[in-house]
Amino acid sequence: MSKVIFMAKGVPDVQGELPYVDWQPGQALVDTRQRPLRDLRISVTDRCNFRCTYCMPREVFDTDYPFMPHSSLLSFEEITRVARVAVGLGVQKIRLTGGEPLLRKDIEKLVAMLAQLKTPEGKPLELTLTTNGTLLRKKARALKDAGLKRVTVSLDALDPTLFERMSDSQVSVDTVLDGIEAAADVGLAPVKVNMVVRKGLNDDQIMPMVRHFRHSGHILRFIEYMDVGSTNGWDLSEVLTGREMLDRIGAEFPLAPVQADYVGEVAERWRYLDGAGEIGVITSVSHPFCGDCSRARMSPEGKLFLCLFADQGYDLRTLVRSGGSDAELAGHIAGIWTGRADRYSEVRGKAGTTRAKIEMSYIGG
Ligand code: SAM
Ligand code: SF4
Ligand code: SF4
Repeated sequence: MSKVIFMAKGVPDVQGELPYVDWQPGQALVDTRQRPLRDLRISVTDRCNFRCTYCMPREVFDTDYPFMPHSSLLSFEEITRVARVAVGLGVQKIRLTGGEPLLRKDIEKLVAMLAQLKTPEGKPLELTLTTNGTLLRKKARALKDAGLKRVTVSLDALDPTLFERMSDSQVSVDTVLDGIEAAADVGLAPVKVNMVVRKGLNDDQIMPMVRHFRHSGHILRFIEYMDVGSTNGWDLSEVLTGREMLDRIGAEFPLAPVQADYVGEVAERWRYLDGAGEIGVITSVSHPFCGDCSRARMSPEGKLFLCLFADQGYDLRTLVRSGGSDAELAGHIAGIWTGRADRYSEVRGKAGTTRAKIEMSYIGG
């Protein structure tokens, strides 16, 4: 593969003044498609101890790659401040992600700070984290004690050789499986296990994963391989659709649909008819769900993105560091959200959508 570096620190900002509206507490906030802001995903680092081939191919994310220096990253206080303002605007759910979020030093301190936040109605947030699981055994107890509610662990194969090949690491699959059990043991449950399926590469792992996680209490979720970023050489022919996955699984273990928990839920939920538990499919490619998308994403250095496939972010860090008040910050985030029209997955492949996009390892899943 040719080396195309789409540098995190080179991600362009939206040009000009940050949008602003005079937002008042209690006022409804929706984007141009009437979608509220409910979910904030915060990427706390662009670094990772894996080099999953579909996310951080080693040819690109090598020793020369310009990862962000620590001074560029928002501090825990700055992250918490933006989160508090976003919660005032309607955010009910916060997910920490990365890169690998457990690599960020003292991440449990950030969890403890975010766990103090309450919605305007006085409810605690749904506070979760997505991880590759390698450090979970070490961190699960501290995360739980700090107030984390649940974790999602990524695992693409049970076969040890294939796992090491896909994650391009020396970490064994048993370490991740042990991390999942450690999370469940301390009550970060149910654990969701995310498997990205690449046709011809790991689709033969679907049934072993199904058999392994049935009756475990963990919720296995199958993710269609997506064209995030600009470095993984994505090709539609490598996408196994959610429908095809469900057909394979249902042929051996009959399934029935489960009602979504809430509007905007990403995974389509299914349960085994024999009572062995629940699974999910995330069909961003074959069956886009932009119509209900209520997610904003913040990068490690405080840029706000309105879509996983965005190519530009809104720089909140300058505002945060230049002494702007919380009311100003709220007005700017509200102004940014009000102008949002993103629906990339619905228009994938059409004119104007084949531009460079932010990397998944920078903005998180
Ligand atoms: N490092 C953590 C992890 O792997 O769980 C958190 C960040 S990772 C970017 C978040 C999620 O994005 C993971 O579940 C990963 O499998 C998923 N992901 C990354 N690249 C993807 C792609 N091209 N298509 C679908 N999912 C992808
Ligand atoms: Fe790291 Fe997660 Fe990307 Fe894999 S998917 S390279 S674990 S950030
Ligand atoms: Fe939301 Fe963008 Fe994904 Fe559509 S493509 S669901 S707008 S993040």
